[in-house]
Amino acid sequence: MSKDSFIHVLDQDTINKIAAGEVVERPASVVKELVDNAIDAGAKNIRVELKDSGKTLISVRDDGKGMSREDVTLSPIKHATSKITDISDLESVLTMGFRGEALAAISSVSKFEIITKRKQDSTGTRLYLEDGRQEITDIGAPDGTTVNVNELFYNTPARLKYMKTDATELSHIAGMVSDLILANPDISFTLINNGKTILSSASSNLFNSIVDILGHEAARVMMEIPSENMETKLDDDKKESVDQIKALTEYADMEISGYISKPTFSKTTTDNLYFIVNNRPVTSKELVKAIRLGYYTKLPKDRYPAAVIHLKINPSEVDVNVHPRKVEVRFKDENRLVRIVSDVIETTLRLYELAPKVSANE
Ligand code: ADP
Ligand code: MG
Repeated sequence: MSKDSFIHVLDQDTINKIAAGEVVERPASVVKELVDNAIDAGAKNIRVELKDSGKTLISVRDDGKGMSREDVTLSPIKHATSKITDISDLESVLTMGFRGEALAAISSVSKFEIITKRKQDSTGTRLYLEDGRQEITDIGAPDGTTVNVNELFYNTPARLKYMKTDATELSHIAGMVSDLILANPDISFTLINNGKTILSSASSNLFNSIVDILGHEAARVMMEIPSENMETKLDDDKKESVDQIKALTEYADMEISGYISKPTFSKTTTDNLYFIVNNRPVTSKELVKAIRLGYYTKLPKDRYPAAVIHLKINPSEVDVNVHPRKVEVRFKDENRLVRIVSDVIETTLRLYELAPKVSANE
């Protein structure tokens, strides 16, 4: 370097560690990325095992499709993904991941191991990465993938220092896994910390997942949003509400399903509100607003019901690319969405006779 030059391009390892901060904020973000990958791989059973709330070990095992030896070697390379090819694919992406950043980020700030095997292969592959040094070997393994993240942030002291107490980090992870359980009732999940089962939910239906996550008390006061394939059985005279909701949502190319609580069950926080858009747990101020509007005067001011709402909408109508961790979504037509969702809530409340019937000429 000449004495007139102070500028130099950072080496890839340093670039990765800096960028990792965006994706991997804390143990819960690692859990989220690894479980997302398991879901994208078609897993039906996902087991998350932690030591010391993830600070010492985060292990995620799935029974998904696994990776070939070639693919597992590519997987921790930055921007290496099997999920999109060019920017136009973002209009239709339905997988949880697509940036190809997670494994690159996580492996740059941990002692990282993947053990994976595809059904069609007779032997599995183990990839180990530490400080940019890579080992790859054949190994006997069950079908599927296990990712072990050891000593997260061991080489980034600033991040290490920012981790909170074990209890706090565990509660973030449990919150994250709860969201994923409610988003994927057909997948069975187990979350274990230091040998103790924190959460478990068998593969079942949304109502049973609500029992597992929100508890019996909340589940008892839940009303199902009427839809064609609803879990609750409706009397014939109540079937018209299914058609009403279909009429509300169909023209918007949207499907809404899930459960909302009776107005008698409410909280001062939005903690019991869960929104899942195209299988992705999200937060959305617009959807909170829609819920409040739907309950209108049936809830005291500043109180919120419990609700688990699944929205299926055309991927081109929603931008999941707002944030690297993809928690916050942006809808193209927010006003229309708020209107439809609040109408659906109102129709549901009316169906369960918690709101007066609107007369035909109104
Ligand atoms: P993205 O999910 O955005 O594609 P990741 O860095 O999370 O990026 O993963 C990179 C690639 O590794 C994925 O596209 C996928 O092909 C593969 N992969 C990661 N985890 C798994 C898994 N559990 N099972 C099968 N393939 C996986
Ligand atoms: Mg991913």
